[in-house]
Amino acid sequence: MDMRIDTLTGDHTTTHLVSTSTVNWVIAQGEGGVTLIDGGYPGHAGAVLESLRRVGSAPEEIRAALLTHAHVDHLGGLIRLREEYTFDVYAHPDEVAHAKREYLEQANAVSLAPIAWQPRVMRWLSQIIPLGALSRAGLDDTSPLGDLSALPGSPVAVPTPGHTRGHCAYLVAEGEGLVSGDALISGHAITSQHGPQCLGPIFTHDPERNAESLEALAATDAHLLLPGHGDLWEGSMRTAVNRALSRR
Ligand SMILES: [Zn+2]
Repeated sequence: MDMRIDTLTGDHTTTHLVSTSTVNWVIAQGEGGVTLIDGGYPGHAGAVLESLRRVGSAPEEIRAALLTHAHVDHLGGLIRLREEYTFDVYAHPDEVAHAKREYLEQANAVSLAPIAWQPRVMRWLSQIIPLGALSRAGLDDTSPLGDLSALPGSPVAVPTPGHTRGHCAYLVAEGEGLVSGDALISGHAITSQHGPQCLGPIFTHDPERNAESLEALAATDAHLLLPGHGDLWEGSMRTAVNRALSRR
């Protein structure tokens, strides 16, 4: 599996953004093990293990996984990993029911129909369907997140509802990096645009709410954006958010 790993080295924690052509995840290494943030599509479980190996961690070291949100491309790989390894999975309290699949807030065949003819979208669909994009599986024992300071890497939750109703970003690398999930991305297989941007309305539960939530990201002191899709981006979060909003 083609993947790129960007590493942020801090005094007490090392953070890795793992990027694939379809979705990203984050490995935070700290005292006591590893915290994963998101875990790719179901078909990415092996790639998550491979990325852990490449950064010198074993899957047995995973202490917890955090979800930015419960879309299949962020949750699916974790469901597979949990069949073999023991760790807790946390989501924002407003996202837990989504992770359990009590409901599903995700683009589907009907909502995608207006753009499915586009060559980029067709190519993207041909990549993600074999990765398990149509899976509707949830994780029944997802827990609501509380204080995360004891987890490896000491991530800090930054609630950002809109992309889904319980979407949550996380500050990592001692506040230098921001894991923005799908609230703010820097690229996507379905578009040729690069740099900070929002996903389109087909992929966003509540675009207006998402745009409002970006203020919480802009207010952070992070200078590295670790998005759910696209490359690592360097700059102030205020600049990132302004660019994304100007492109809407
Ligand atoms: Zn998403």
